[in-house]
Amino acid sequence: MTHTSVAAYAAPAPKAPLERTTIPRRELGAHDILIDIKFAGICHSDIHTARAEWGEGGHFPLVPGHEIAGVVAATGSAVSRYAVGDRVGVGCFVDSCRECDNCRAGIEQYCTGELGNVGTYNAVGRDGEPTQGGYSTHLVVDENYALRIPESIPLDAAAPLLCAGITVYSPLAHWQAGPGKKVAVVGLGGLGHMGVKIAHAMGAEVTVLSQSLRKKDDGLRFGADAYHATSDPATFEALAGTFDLIINTVSADLDLNAYLSLLRTDGTLVQLGAPEKPLTVAPFALIGGRRSFAGSLIGGIRETQEMLDFCGEHSIAADIELISADRINEAYERVLASDVRYRFVIDTSTI
Ligand SMILES: [Zn+2]
Ligand SMILES: [Zn+2]
Repeated sequence: MTHTSVAAYAAPAPKAPLERTTIPRRELGAHDILIDIKFAGICHSDIHTARAEWGEGGHFPLVPGHEIAGVVAATGSAVSRYAVGDRVGVGCFVDSCRECDNCRAGIEQYCTGELGNVGTYNAVGRDGEPTQGGYSTHLVVDENYALRIPESIPLDAAAPLLCAGITVYSPLAHWQAGPGKKVAVVGLGGLGHMGVKIAHAMGAEVTVLSQSLRKKDDGLRFGADAYHATSDPATFEALAGTFDLIINTVSADLDLNAYLSLLRTDGTLVQLGAPEKPLTVAPFALIGGRRSFAGSLIGGIRETQEMLDFCGEHSIAADIELISADRINEAYERVLASDVRYRFVIDTSTI
């Protein structure tokens, strides 16, 4: 198989700073599209993976990036869904087995086939080659794993929807956030700020639960109806038994039982972040109110398109800080220090 060389920013080894390099992209297959990447968001997972903090080695040099927005530059001979010039995005995976029950049901993120869902980076594709992500000028992807970005969303602010947006949209849709429902979003970071915007647009009554009131003005601007500091024990007394749904976007250790006590009967607490250590749940926190503790992982292709269309209709996008590629390492430090409102996005023309 022949390849084309394209510019990218890669971590040459675990924990090494990212630097400019070139990587191969495969030639267009019949169902492939070539995307001229315009913008790539920086997700916390990029940092974990580039620093090999999630174990299992990794394919270095490693190009992170799974919040990709760009324009179709070429199409394979059998491509039917996209044409040159279309605005498209790519999220957290670029392929899956397509045959298992979950793939057939459109929840490819939970693919149980041998191939599994193929990560946009740090995975091995059908062709046996390591996948490389969006901190790059171009990407070749099967048209079935690309998404259409509505005209009403600027491409730079659309990029974070491909991971942060769908990660919160999927549980909000699954547990039916909407009119008459009280939803709490724990943490107001990259995921949390999208959670507030989307839950509000779905018609739910939205409360932000954040460590402090530091970002309260932003939270209310994003559509929250209420904003409470979790550092204040009075918050947990005042809100006991309140919520139908709590979306936890925080990866740090939290006192889950305190949050479970905020659910009303039949309420659900959904875990999106992955702390390193196991979490502790007191059984009575669940039993006492027929409550559920659940997890959720990104979303399938069909649901991701639904999310993009929903965001297009409601004029929702991420609040971003646009950076040039030479500032990626600095941005990583700032993400780790929670010093970003609310997502860094790389202008890939600077790579
Ligand atoms: Zn991500
Ligand atoms: Zn599958």
